[in-house]
Amino acid sequence: MEGVPPGERCDNCRREISRRAARIARWVAMGSTAVLALYVVLRVPEEPRARVVGAASVLIWYLLTSRMVRRIAQEWIK
Ligand SMILES: [Zn+2]
Repeated sequence: MEGVPPGERCDNCRREISRRAARIARWVAMGSTAVLALYVVLRVPEEPRARVVGAASVLIWYLLTSRMVRRIAQEWIK
């Protein structure tokens, strides 16, 4: 592409990389979240408060891992 120095990515490549990174991040986050969710279901007591905390942890875990993996994958792909 014109106007892009060698070794630099053009917008199309950058978009493609971030799209792929997002897909990888989604899968990794879903996989690890499934394991955590299973653990919560099996190990967290039936008490409603503990269930809410467990569910919230699972949600936060998903958000954090997908964010982190996305960033790592983006560095790793290029
Ligand atoms: Zn390109």
